[in-house]
Amino acid sequence: MKQKHVVVIGSGFAGLSAATHLAANNFSVTLLEKNDSPGGRARKFSAQGFTFDMGPSWYWMPDVFEDYFSNFDKKPADYYELLRLDPSYSVIYGQDDVLDIPANLDEFKAKLEEIEPGAAAQLDKFLAQAKYKYQIGIHDLVKRPSRSLMEFASLALMKDVMRMDVFQSMSSHVRKFFKSEKIIRLMEFPVLFLGETAENIPALYSLMNYADIVLGTWYPKGGMHEIISGMVALAEEKGVKIRYNTEVEEIEIEQGEAKRVRLISGERIKTDLVIAGADYHHVDRHLINPKYSNYSEDYWDKRVLAPSSLLFYLGIGKKLKNLRHHNLFFDEPLGPHADAIYTNPRWPEKPLFYACVPSVTDDTVAPEGMENLFLLIPLATDLEDSEEIREKYYEMIMERLEKITGQEIRSDVIFKRSYAHSDFKADYHAYKGNAYGLANTLKQTALLKPSLKNKKVSNLFYTGQLTVPGPGVPPSLISGYVVAKEVIRENS
Ligand SMILES: Cc1cc2nc3c(=O)[nH]c(=O)nc-3n(C[C@H](O)[C@H](O)[C@H](O)COP(=O)(O)OP(=O)(O)OC[C@H]3O[C@@H](n4cnc5c(N)ncnc54)[C@H](O)[C@@H]3O)c2cc1C
Repeated sequence: MKQKHVVVIGSGFAGLSAATHLAANNFSVTLLEKNDSPGGRARKFSAQGFTFDMGPSWYWMPDVFEDYFSNFDKKPADYYELLRLDPSYSVIYGQDDVLDIPANLDEFKAKLEEIEPGAAAQLDKFLAQAKYKYQIGIHDLVKRPSRSLMEFASLALMKDVMRMDVFQSMSSHVRKFFKSEKIIRLMEFPVLFLGETAENIPALYSLMNYADIVLGTWYPKGGMHEIISGMVALAEEKGVKIRYNTEVEEIEIEQGEAKRVRLISGERIKTDLVIAGADYHHVDRHLINPKYSNYSEDYWDKRVLAPSSLLFYLGIGKKLKNLRHHNLFFDEPLGPHADAIYTNPRWPEKPLFYACVPSVTDDTVAPEGMENLFLLIPLATDLEDSEEIREKYYEMIMERLEKITGQEIRSDVIFKRSYAHSDFKADYHAYKGNAYGLANTLKQTALLKPSLKNKKVSNLFYTGQLTVPGPGVPPSLISGYVVAKEVIRENS
């Protein structure tokens, strides 16, 4: 049988995953990437001896990465060295109120017990449920293409879905087990990765606590981009042809079938199938004739987007004290900041923020005696992000960082780059400058997510963080697998 040619748009985790699965299943695959390097939101850049991961920094769910590479008889260790972090991360509630989260479960339980007597036993119960959800959720539910209710119709699965706490919020679920505000904030933290607050995320996602507390926080030596480098090597080994600096301007459709992609250079590439791993809205509203769009502008405007972010990549000319690899600054209340993200979009008055210092673990990402510091403030999408505003927030959080960690930092900044909404739009065509795609609210889960297939174009598929299963590195990897499986099923 003649090999079918697939064009994949975008070299993020989802595009690379889809391309590699298809190439390994006898498709001829060309992957087109607008930027000059792979990885999408997980790109890296180097400057003055520092190497910065531009996006993701938390490596959770190591089993998902093992599954990915095992599809090709490989393992993560064939491509990168994985280290388990201990402490997993540090939560800063105030100047002298810091909680290091130990990797060891018994030590973690002892810490909880100190905060709230009885919490260790409650954690066992909480984690038993979370483990069950993880096993069914990550190893089964997320791998369904979610194109028909029938996929979820088996009796066994219906029973499972009932046990999965789909209709209860994460916030009320956590409060059934714990009373201490400190512990509640800790247990609610992982769902922030899913793009909404615990009030609006189904308790199904306590599976994230299992990932956090039991499976642990890991780090690929050299940085998160090492995963991308490994995936690119594997893709090329399987025969995927990757072209950088190659932006798609239009998917040319004739009689409900994608025939070619036209590049910004004017070149046209013939294809039998298109898998779009670029942001869904960009593809659906700008790369195809709107008469073929799956969704209207109005539909998109009503989606709950996961936040955007203001990021700072800083090279510090000395070693820092009192900071771990991952540091969550919960020294201000979450409520007003969440309101500024979701309810009344605005720049927050007193933002929470996250500081990542990978050079604490890895001496290859900063020159000797120096520190690599990445700061992230989650923000509402579509805000104006002028230099002046960025600078205001830089001063605001550096002030807090210096005060809480008891040291001067600003005077030792030898490299500084900021990144926010307008950069997400320019670099990735990100709808409203989103950083993490669509939030995993109940109304935006599984069948209720933008579909992975175009309903009017028989050979156009979508993958990535704006379709199933959702935002984050592991879901994006899985998204590529799910779409490739659908393409293989429909074409065999
Ligand atoms: C700051 C930040 C921190 C994060 N932290 C974490 C974390 O710690 N852990 C975690 O698991 N997840 C994290 N995430 C989320 C995670 O990075 C994303 O969910 C994931 O990388 C998305 O992958 P993707 O393949 O869907 O999309 P992308 O990575 O955006 O890939 C899409 C690609 O399409 C390309 N493209 C767009 N338009 C075109 C076009 N017209 N032609 C050709 N190419 C095009 C883009 O350049 C891009 O390379 C973070 C994200 C950000 C932004």
